[in-house]
Amino acid sequence: MFKVLERIFRDRLATGKISLAGSDRFRGPIEGSTSSEILARCAASCPVAAFDVKGEDYTIDYKKCIFCGRCVEACAQKAVEESREDGLHHKHEDAMPYLIEAGQEVLQDVLREKLGRSLHVRHLDAGSCNACDFEMGATGNPYYDLSRYGVHFVASPRHADLLMVTGVVTRNLEQALKMSYDAMPEPRLVMACGACAAGGETYGDTYAIVGAADKVVPVDLYVPGCPPRPSAMIVGLLAAADMLKKKL
Ligand code: SF4
Repeated sequence: MFKVLERIFRDRLATGKISLAGSDRFRGPIEGSTSSEILARCAASCPVAAFDVKGEDYTIDYKKCIFCGRCVEACAQKAVEESREDGLHHKHEDAMPYLIEAGQEVLQDVLREKLGRSLHVRHLDAGSCNACDFEMGATGNPYYDLSRYGVHFVASPRHADLLMVTGVVTRNLEQALKMSYDAMPEPRLVMACGACAAGGETYGDTYAIVGAADKVVPVDLYVPGCPPRPSAMIVGLLAAADMLKKKL
């Protein structure tokens, strides 16, 4: 008994703040500029065709990017480098304005205030390697503590406000994805989580693969990353809660 009390007083609160600041060991969005010749080398090294060169400039499709760093290695001059921030709120990311906005507002109080109601989520693994699913599992641990925001995973799409899709959609799961979406009550949202579900390029084009989730169902939010960090998923879910509130 005394040992338990001692431990409670000794250990601090395990739950942390949600942040998209990344870390020194984190590979974030690509920054910098260089000649078109080197940029062409960077683009050629990209395994998922996310790096697109236009003259002296380039764009990166962060829905497809797996943050592997090969484009940085291809630019031996270190003119193109990875930032350490989370990809979710990167300034070059114009495909996800909603999440950019949400990513800048990471204070817990603001997030709580946005959630005037709770959000019920049905997760569907459409063919993932399980990396996204492990990170998704971590959102419920004492550090990230997703339930403090009123977000709960449910066992049936009939009870869900949001369908969270991980993994590239495989032919075997295509029908399950369609049926899950059809079973959800209106208003409903779909979040494509990770490079496979969002970009669909990770495993190339084979007979077993349909591609990104938006080839099968309409997608409202994309969370980049391979896999996305739990904090990025949580910000995506909170942005979804805000979207849902506006739809009601
Ligand atoms: S980090 Fe990898 S996937 Fe992303 S643009 Fe560079 S080479 Fe392509």
